[in-house]
Amino acid sequence: MSIDFLNREHGLYIAGGWQPSDGGGRLDVINPATGAVIATIADASPADVDRAVAAARAAFERNDWASLLPNARGQLLWRIAEAIEAHAEEFARLECLDNGKPLLAARRGDVPGAADTFRYFAGWCTKITGQTMQVSRPGQTFAYTMREPLGVVAAIVPWNFPLLMAAWKLAPALAAGCTVVLKPAEDTSLTALRLAEVMADCGMPAGVVNVVTGRGATVGAALTRHPDVNKVAFTGSTLVGKEIIGAAAGNLKKLTLELGGKSPTLILPDADLTKAIPAAVMGIFHNAGQVCAAGSRLYVHEKVFDQVTEGIIQRARALRSGPGEVPTTDLGPLVSQRHRERVHGYVESGQRDGAQLLTGGARGLGEGFFYEPTILTGTKPHMSIVREEIFGPVLVAERFGDLDEAVERANDSDFGLSATVWTTNLSLAHGLARRLEAGTIRVNTGGGTDPNQPFGGTKQSGWGREFGEEGLLEYMQTKSVLMTL
Ligand code: NAP
Ligand code: MG
Repeated sequence: MSIDFLNREHGLYIAGGWQPSDGGGRLDVINPATGAVIATIADASPADVDRAVAAARAAFERNDWASLLPNARGQLLWRIAEAIEAHAEEFARLECLDNGKPLLAARRGDVPGAADTFRYFAGWCTKITGQTMQVSRPGQTFAYTMREPLGVVAAIVPWNFPLLMAAWKLAPALAAGCTVVLKPAEDTSLTALRLAEVMADCGMPAGVVNVVTGRGATVGAALTRHPDVNKVAFTGSTLVGKEIIGAAAGNLKKLTLELGGKSPTLILPDADLTKAIPAAVMGIFHNAGQVCAAGSRLYVHEKVFDQVTEGIIQRARALRSGPGEVPTTDLGPLVSQRHRERVHGYVESGQRDGAQLLTGGARGLGEGFFYEPTILTGTKPHMSIVREEIFGPVLVAERFGDLDEAVERANDSDFGLSATVWTTNLSLAHGLARRLEAGTIRVNTGGGTDPNQPFGGTKQSGWGREFGEEGLLEYMQTKSVLMTL
């Protein structure tokens, strides 16, 4: 691992080089497993944002990215995928130190996922098409559409999967021919900074990708208000998503918003419990529950409720908490002290509201921001632990007798990101896939995304989709051309 990288005086990556921030402010980078400061990053100002947007605008106007032959653009994105793989261990270790996640999870999930995303969108560069259409006077007119890149994209990403979320935004934006200013989360900016360099080494022209670190309320807000930004691609909280809608109104920016979730899992009495139980455990405790599509509400048929909850409790208690670099660690710390207190506040409020704790419910030992895997039951639909996204290792588990009632409770949410069903009855499964209100329905599978399948939310889980052709087209606009022959 390049400790050299950690020791650097990290700047802002603007116009193809490192630049200091305008005001010279710094932010500490904290290892959440120990609470220790491991590096510092630049705390950028609105003036820095102006410089980064100007660099992205200039690169877009110079047209040296969008006008590269599609094949050459695709090859460059493919090279970035290979470079991420070549630096996999370094990226995984940085992510583990900065976010706290188990090294193994970063090696198996985040890093290959980021590489796959670039590789997938590399393929789209040569497959962007318009259409010709029959209009009212066939033979006398020629009508067609073409796809154009939207322009300068502000990509604002969260701290739960820092490198992966950056890749989810950068790869489709670049495949579409846009230029980008990336703002990583202030808690986890290291891999985005390293990625900027790796991309430059692959031959990315200056100014096409810029990275500005700093605070959401400063850098994020300046980007979303900026008159020269054409689109904001955001993943994060619903609260900030709504602020962005307001900030984007000035120049009517296009928006994609991948916001929170409170995703239900339904376990029917005929389900294969040998698979459903471990998947439900992973569904809520993977990445310490800091997953937008985490299965945080569990509805189990009364016939199997005791068996399922007992199985989940046993497995939850067996999960080993610890620093990510320890190979036996299943569960890392939460990302920050502040976030841990927020999570604990929810658990306390749930108990005050009358919910019963089945396991967990306390901060972990040591200096790090650990939190015990926690399961509550006896909840009521109005409780905040049932309605709000906790974004930690906290599951609410309830029994149901009647399937219609279970669907109603599952759908009784402001969110609609994902829903999971466990049943061996094929007709029931297809029926539930229609009835459940969510952008993604999983049947007899724990999770996972694929770059060729659109991902995104209904209701207050967001606007737009990532991945697939739909995900690419979120970064493009259609121009119609009509010609008299
Ligand atoms: P957040 O505040 O929504 O942060 C997400 C990103 O937006 C970060 O880069 C953040 O920067 C930036 N940001 C913050 N305020 C902004 C503003 N006014 N304008 C533009 N950008 C802004 O999320 P968080 O505070 O990190 O986490 C809070 C909750 O959000 C979590 O507990 C969870 O419920 C939800 N969340 C959801 C997802 C998801 O995948 N859907 C991911 C993470 C969090 P800073 O980091 O510098 O503040
Ligand atoms: Mg950190």
